[in-house]
Amino acid sequence: MRRKDRQVTNRSKIQEIIASCDCCRLGIQDNAGIYVVPMSFGYESLQGVDTFYFHSANTGRKIDLLRQNPRVGFEMDTHYQLKTAATPCGYSAQFQSIIGTGTVSFLEDIMEKRQALSIIMRHYTEKFDWEFSEERLQSVCVFRLTADTLSCKEHK
Ligand SMILES: Cc1cc2nc3c(=O)[nH]c(=O)nc-3n(C[C@H](O)[C@H](O)[C@H](O)COP(=O)(O)OP(=O)(O)OC[C@H]3O[C@@H](n4cnc5c(N)ncnc54)[C@H](O)[C@@H]3O)c2cc1C
Repeated sequence: MRRKDRQVTNRSKIQEIIASCDCCRLGIQDNAGIYVVPMSFGYESLQGVDTFYFHSANTGRKIDLLRQNPRVGFEMDTHYQLKTAATPCGYSAQFQSIIGTGTVSFLEDIMEKRQALSIIMRHYTEKFDWEFSEERLQSVCVFRLTADTLSCKEHK
């Protein structure tokens, strides 16, 4: 990162920033280029590895592409605030953001899916012990993104 003064390396601060993001944008590879798709997500640090969970319908462009190529980029950001000034070049913005890369794997095991959906729900509600019907668990597509790079930047 060119602006080292804006780089966040403290793990608990990074996790705090992830917790306050609402949306994760996945950059998925496609023969035509890159397909960027916004998604709700859940997060956990799994044995120190940054791990994100997503749910979706079983069909559609992103799922078809992910099944062909599970390597993705991702981005999320929070606390955007415009800082105004007298001149255009004086304008700036506060933000906190995360950028990374990783590999997607699809969860097939019902217990794993339940756990992942609970992690997604916890991200938005802070409640973990939700009920999911067997039918829903069978039909929903749930996937995990295991990050292999992750950087965090904060502009105060
Ligand atoms: C904040 C936010 C959170 C979301 N959370 C989830 C989630 O948790 N799970 C989930 O499955 N979906 C979520 N969505 C919707 C998601 O972005 C996709 O629209 C959806 O997953 C369908 O993707 P697909 O590749 O299957 O699209 P398809 O239905 O196959 O459609 C393909 C085409 O439709 C267009 N398209 C698809 N999605 C969008 C979009 N969001 N905006 C504009 N054009 C689009 C593109 O041109 C794309 O090529 C969320 C959207 C937002 C904005």
